[in-house]
Amino acid sequence: MSPIAHGGVALFAWQISATRKNWRTLALFLFVGNLPDIDFALNLILGHNRLSLHQYFTHNLLFILVTTSLLSLLLPAGRDRWGLILLGLSHLVLDIIVIDPARPIGIRPFFPFSSVLYNFGFFPYLERWRLRTMISWRNGGVLLLEAAVFLFPVMIIYGKRILKTVRGRAFWTA
Ligand SMILES: [Zn+2]
Repeated sequence: MSPIAHGGVALFAWQISATRKNWRTLALFLFVGNLPDIDFALNLILGHNRLSLHQYFTHNLLFILVTTSLLSLLLPAGRDRWGLILLGLSHLVLDIIVIDPARPIGIRPFFPFSSVLYNFGFFPYLERWRLRTMISWRNGGVLLLEAAVFLFPVMIIYGKRILKTVRGRAFWTA
């Protein structure tokens, strides 16, 4: 899914699990929610190669557990750290339910121990391989759907509280 869906889940995880609500922890949660898609960024920068292969080295339990566990050390022990690790794992769940049109189809949660691909795709996918198809009504609709499912509910339930936090001095000075 796109950063909209992962960002919505990250915002939710931050709101319910971060005890210190400031821009640093918010940035960390948003970063962790989107971290596995670093392969997409690498692909744009380095071009197609093994390291940046679509959902290969970064979309698995090992990568996510190692990176999020290390990053969670920046947070207080307990709820904060668990929230961050679960958020990391949510990335896999969200990506597994998206229809994957690009080979190899699906992700390998158990890589490098097993290369079995998993995909239970029913959620519409974003076309993002050519600029022409990237900016389209179709993709706009998919992004809107992602926002409707993963971001708007969080804003409806927690929006007021989040806005109040962000407006506060403590959010920026911490
Ligand atoms: Zn992903």
